[in-house]
Amino acid sequence: MTAWVTDFAPTTAELNSCVACGLCLPHCPTFRLTGLESASPRGRIAAMKGVAEGVLDLDADFEEAMTFCLNCRACEAVCPSMVPFGRAMEGARAEITAQRPTARRRLRHLLLGRLLSNRGLVGLATDGVRVMQRLGVSRILPGRLGRGLRGLRPLRPVRAPALNGSGPTIGLLVGCVMNKWFSGVNTAAVELLTRAGYRVAIPGEQTCCGALVVHDGGIDEGRRLAAINIRAFDNVDRVVATAAGCSAHLKSYGKVISEGAQIAAGAADITQVIAELIASGKLPTLAADSGDVVLHDPCHLRHAQRSTEPPRQILRAAGYHVIDADPEGLCCGAAGIYSLLRPATSRELGTRLANLIDDRGELVATSNPGCEMQIRSHLDRGYRIAHPIELYLEAIRSSG
Ligand code: SF4
Ligand code: SF4
Repeated sequence: MTAWVTDFAPTTAELNSCVACGLCLPHCPTFRLTGLESASPRGRIAAMKGVAEGVLDLDADFEEAMTFCLNCRACEAVCPSMVPFGRAMEGARAEITAQRPTARRRLRHLLLGRLLSNRGLVGLATDGVRVMQRLGVSRILPGRLGRGLRGLRPLRPVRAPALNGSGPTIGLLVGCVMNKWFSGVNTAAVELLTRAGYRVAIPGEQTCCGALVVHDGGIDEGRRLAAINIRAFDNVDRVVATAAGCSAHLKSYGKVISEGAQIAAGAADITQVIAELIASGKLPTLAADSGDVVLHDPCHLRHAQRSTEPPRQILRAAGYHVIDADPEGLCCGAAGIYSLLRPATSRELGTRLANLIDDRGELVATSNPGCEMQIRSHLDRGYRIAHPIELYLEAIRSSG
């Protein structure tokens, strides 16, 4: 029989807060796909409790139940007892890493923790993508791979503007792949924030936020990355991320590492800040009619941050008529590296969402790069997919 061995394990209070009411079950993608209690939030909490109390072994069945979860946190958002499911799941996976070590998982954490945070290597991969796009390789690659590659926008990474003026300073977390593969989003963030009077700092010492590796149970690597960012953003008023997965993780830094509480308290997603600036009149509401846009809510905005209005406010201010991609808010199946680890389930969820989007317009908005790649790779024809702030800045520019 086993019990927990790390300081990141699910706590007794976290696990006991579940009253097993089952209200979360219809909102859980893996329960909906399988109908199995062991694939439900309630079943997973019960399994964690069993291991914590020494009634169950931390064995292959436990590992299967935990790793089949997308950690989408849809269960957490609807739970009347406010069970912190995402935190508990990260703790359970840290325990799996500690108690069932494998070379494959160790290598994965090394890749997620060291390579993604290495700008030189991400830059090399970006150059490879750029060359493949120029040579038209993405057009001849089959299916999802080719479609995913065509969607990347490897422009010049955004650079820090001069810190003029005396307004509050926002530190921009540019992201490990975001700044290379979707750099237009960071460029739009800098332009909109500076238009509204903020000073924008982009500290060169910053690194990957660590969300991917912590979700995979790599708490040691995650803490190392968090400590680097805490030092890098020491002198700013608040830290803002342009990817929903990164902003959600920044907000949880206080749980990841004890020194992380301060940065977590001031952290925000870029959609939240831009929507505030529009509401206060510091950024304009346009009178344009920009047409329809199908909006997808990333789980890490909708469920983890309970933030659904800001992207809608931004798109409406840009003159768009917003159509919800999926009112039920089921995970798209990207879920960090889940699409690589569980391709069949990921594909099923990606296809479901693509079917909901198909034939409802030509333009899709989402605010997380993983979701964008997942949606693009499952849509059969060439939709344009962009971040809400990219569309907003374009509308401002075209309105003169
Ligand atoms: S996680 Fe929340 S909603 Fe789900 S069974 Fe437990 S108490 Fe009920
Ligand atoms: S995080 Fe998502 S997949 Fe995991 S139990 Fe909760 S709703 Fe289900």
